[in-house]
Order: sequence, then C-alpha cells, then structure tokens
Amino acid sequence: MATTTTTTATNPAVPQVAAKPMAKGSARFRSSWHDEAKQSSWSIAHWFFHLLDIDPLPPKASFPVADKADKVPYVSEWSLHRWIAPRLAVPLLLHHVLVAHYGITLHPVAAFFLYSVAFKLFGVSTMHMLRRVGAQHGFLDGQVPRDGIPDDSVGKVAMSLISTSTYRPILAVMLAYDRNAPPALSWMVPAQLTLYTVVLDFWFYWYHRLMHEVPWLWKLHSTHHLTRHPNATLTLFADEVQEIFDIAGIPLFAYWTIRYLVPVLGGSNFGFYEWWFCGMYVAFIELAGHSGLRVFAQPPGSFGILRSAGIELCIEDHDLHHRRGWKKSGNYGKQTRVWDTLFGSKIAREECTEDNVDWSQRVAIPW
Ligand SMILES: [Zn+2]
Ligand SMILES: [Zn+2]
Repeated sequence: MATTTTTTATNPAVPQVAAKPMAKGSARFRSSWHDEAKQSSWSIAHWFFHLLDIDPLPPKASFPVADKADKVPYVSEWSLHRWIAPRLAVPLLLHHVLVAHYGITLHPVAAFFLYSVAFKLFGVSTMHMLRRVGAQHGFLDGQVPRDGIPDDSVGKVAMSLISTSTYRPILAVMLAYDRNAPPALSWMVPAQLTLYTVVLDFWFYWYHRLMHEVPWLWKLHSTHHLTRHPNATLTLFADEVQEIFDIAGIPLFAYWTIRYLVPVLGGSNFGFYEWWFCGMYVAFIELAGHSGLRVFAQPPGSFGILRSAGIELCIEDHDLHHRRGWKKSGNYGKQTRVWDTLFGSKIAREECTEDNVDWSQRVAIPW
C-alpha cells in the first residue's frame, strides 16, 4: 500500500530508511544545501538550481512511497510524443519564420544561440515535468529515498547540465548546419529517429560495457556510479573523460554512422534539423532514464516496434543498472534493450514486470 513521505527542509534527500544495506554512494549524496536559511552561502550554482526550480527533491516536496508489489502505472508512447515533439519544434518554427517571412538566414553563431537556448529550455521543462510525475507516482525502490544533488558537488552537477546543452548544439552547428538550407525535416524522420536511437545505443552499449568490464577503464566511470538511486540532474554526473564521451563522443559516432547508413538504406538526407530532432528525443530519454520515476515509460522513438519485440527499455532498467551494478553489472543500454538482449546482459526487472504493470492506469503527463 502506498504511503507518502515528505522531504524536510533540514534533510531533504538523505536516505533515512535502512530497508537494505546502505549503497556505497548514498552518504556522498547527502543533500541539505537547498535550505533557504543557508542562502547567504549559496554560489551561482545553488542559485541556478533554485531559480530555475530544477532541484528534483526540493525542501517540503512530497512523494508517495509504494511497496514493490504495488501496481506500476503506464505511460503511453503517444503521450510522450505529444509532450516532446511540440517542444523540440519551437526553435524550428522560429527559424522558419525568420527565413520564410523576413528573409533572414541565420549565421552559424546565431543558429548556435537559438538552438542552445532551446536545448536548455527543453531540459528545464523536462525536469519540471519529471518532478510533477514523481509527486504523483513516487520512485522505484521507494523504501530507500532518492539521492539528491550532493552538497559537495552542486557546481559540478550544474556544469554537467550546462555543458551538455551547450556543446551538443556547438557540434551540430559545426558539423551539420548549412545557413542556406531552410529549416525542414525529412518525411523519413520518424524512421531516422528509430535508427538513430538504436545506432547511438550500440556505440553507447560497448563504450559503457567496456568501462565496467575492463579494470583500468572502470575509474573513468566509477563517479557516475556513486549514486545508487539517481535523479535526473545526475544524468551527466561523471568524471571528465566520461563527460566528454557522453556529451560529444557517442553522439558523434552515431551521427557519422547514420550519415553513412541513411543513403545506403535508400533514405533521404540526415542533416542538422534531423539531428536536432533525434537529439532532443535522446536528451529526454537520458534525463527520464535517471529520474527513477515509478512508472512504466519506454523511449517512444521506436514507435512501438521494440515494445512489440520485447526489447524496449524502461526507466527501471537504468535504475537497476545504478542500484545493482558496480564493476560487474548489466543493462548497459541507455536508449533501448536491443544490445543487452543480443549480448546477454539484461538485469531482470523487479517492479516493472509485465504482470505488475497496470496497463489500464495511464499516467497523464503534465504539460
Ligand atoms: Zn554504468
Ligand atoms: Zn546512469
């Protein structure tokens, strides 16, 4: 039976329920900074989270706590498309208006500013939505409270979010932007999205698995695993080398692979606007995948294909990767379960099993 827990102003996110041995990272994720009585000691990074209102576990927030056997509600793919697509379309429409109605072709620097700001607003909006869903449905493994934004790494967490939403648009503009090409999406973009997420996940899978299984690579990844119960702001919480690969390396490998594959498969161009489209879906899944929300939600980019084959990812998969995995782990994919299935590294689900999801209880994604 679900109960409700309230984080307090003095100790908002510190695990207080020893339902099982404390995870190694829990003490490190002590989060007591978001106390307005401490504002005089806040840095710009603290104000960044406070003013944008993107602390996933703010003081006085309440989250329901469910038993593992309680039914898990279901998020339809359509509701996620309906939430993501209009938001990623905003800069494309603005860009279109500038070109089509005012004859302004955006200089690459101006294009970077437009899409970088749009990326940041998309991320903030995603964080707000995820927290509202959390307030309705709570978190997986709910007897153990979620890790917060750790007191000693508020600046590092802020920088990881700002870097991602800055460097990815820079890369996209540098590699794919053509100021003479007006904003337009290929009619093949849904198929390209499916292909992009599977291809990106291939590169991510092996890079990620090798960091777990090759001893000298583990030190590049261990910081990301200090949290056993992550939240969305910790998506890019990692040491520098991993941050570089997460932010730029893997998306670049995926982009180059798709640029090669799309013509081979008889498709049309995969350019800047298609990369933007796919990149926003990927960013959404990265954030949601670290939210720990107790809902059955899968990446919508395959339009039901992976689900029908039983190889879709859900939020619990990456949550279990953090919770149960250390050097030896599983669930290495972050967009799909395709490669974990093929290469035999799936971790069995605990709460989002087929018979524990209430397929009749659809989560209303708040706007
Ligand atoms: Zn890992
Ligand atoms: Zn992770």
